[in-house]
Amino acid sequence: MSVNTHPKTRRSFSENVNVMYDRAAVILKLDPGLAEMIRQCNAVYQVRFSVKLKGELRAFIGWRALHSEHRLPAKGGIRYSEIANLDEVEALAALMSFKCAVVDVPFGGSKGALCINPHEYDEDELEKITRRFSRELIKKGFISPSVNVPGPDLGTSAREMEWMCDMYRTLCPDDINAVGCVTGKPESQGGIRGRVEATGRGVQYGIREYFRNPKDVKKAGLSGGLEGKRIIVQGLGNVGYHASKFLSEEDGAIITGIVERDGALLDENGLDVEKVHQWRLERGTIKDYPDARFIEDGTSFLENECDILIPAAIEGQIHERNAARIQAKIVAEAANGPVTSNGDDILRERGIIVIPDFYLNAGGVTVSYFEWIKNITHIRFGRLERRLDEIRGHHLVDVLEQMTGQKVPGELSAKLVQGADELDLVRSGLEDTMHLAYQAIRDVWLENEQVEDLRTAAYVVATRKIACSYNRAGL
Ligand code: GLU
Repeated sequence: MSVNTHPKTRRSFSENVNVMYDRAAVILKLDPGLAEMIRQCNAVYQVRFSVKLKGELRAFIGWRALHSEHRLPAKGGIRYSEIANLDEVEALAALMSFKCAVVDVPFGGSKGALCINPHEYDEDELEKITRRFSRELIKKGFISPSVNVPGPDLGTSAREMEWMCDMYRTLCPDDINAVGCVTGKPESQGGIRGRVEATGRGVQYGIREYFRNPKDVKKAGLSGGLEGKRIIVQGLGNVGYHASKFLSEEDGAIITGIVERDGALLDENGLDVEKVHQWRLERGTIKDYPDARFIEDGTSFLENECDILIPAAIEGQIHERNAARIQAKIVAEAANGPVTSNGDDILRERGIIVIPDFYLNAGGVTVSYFEWIKNITHIRFGRLERRLDEIRGHHLVDVLEQMTGQKVPGELSAKLVQGADELDLVRSGLEDTMHLAYQAIRDVWLENEQVEDLRTAAYVVATRKIACSYNRAGL
């Protein structure tokens, strides 16, 4: 098996992750043995299987990598991608370990992939393939609510998670927590509200956190809040779409560019993300979109002037050959590994701020954690206390009205008497998570002179927690 290297560098994806992690391990003065233990992927299961499609046997290859087990279950998505390979899966599993640690999700890190172009198959075929792949993983303990819990990733969604969950229930009918064997399921099948938008929502909250701190904003050579900031987003998949939609519709940011596989759209006055998204859904391309300039060469469009560049597609997009030409003040990594370690060095030297992937895109796994808790507790969030909150709200309105002799305005009173539902709780839990994690990263960044950037700070925060768990376990 060939280890694919990043498109534009000589280091493989996992080598890139290791280089970045090593910097933190040195700063933390980790014992070399422990540093190595954290760096390595603990186990990888490679599976080859065949499925009969249209009367012919088709062969597939897939992986599930288990990077760390200091906390169980291990967590991470399963992607369907034609360019999936072992090295990529290992790198992504490592990022999951750091991601969970940095946002205090008590899970180890894992990742899976199936080498497939899902667009080449119809729904029935994909179901057959997914059921077969998951059966192989379940047999070896690589899917289980207590040991290893996949979630959606590139090329997979609630649909695939439902098939996997159903397969697990069929094979392990006596597991009372079976529904917690995967996350990102449809709401009707044990999923949680707000999971589909969660990664994009987390990107929005993470960028907001950065802009909440004027000192940090100044470091990027900017001032003020998110309102009016010009953003270029690469990739209008689930993450890029939700992040750019929320940032433009709720925070007043202007999406000046959208880069896709087949080119880029430019409108200095701001693109309507929802309209572009609908256009792309209907036609499968952003070409011919009527309300913007179309630029054929999407890749070099990343180098256009903007305040924030959000790479939300795949790894290795900013590298040693284009980093010197990036004009954004902030690179907000919504994808996993969009900047290579060489690219990262160049951006840092040029004073461009990078908000690192495993913090910024942790919204997905954070809400997956909420979903898993819901599954193993067998109760929907808010079920016990919602009515009580409403009654308390009514009391509060009564007291206010009695004491002031005035009526509480209708809109305010409606807010006070409304108990939080599942979506409210998920959003507030996610916002709080992104807030606390940013503060922890920021403290390390600003207080330790060896720590030059947010990425290294995030690795320090995450690695310290993982090392602490391993030490406690006496390993
Ligand atoms: N695929 C997402 C990630 O890379 C979420 C994984 C999960 O929910 O397990 O973080």
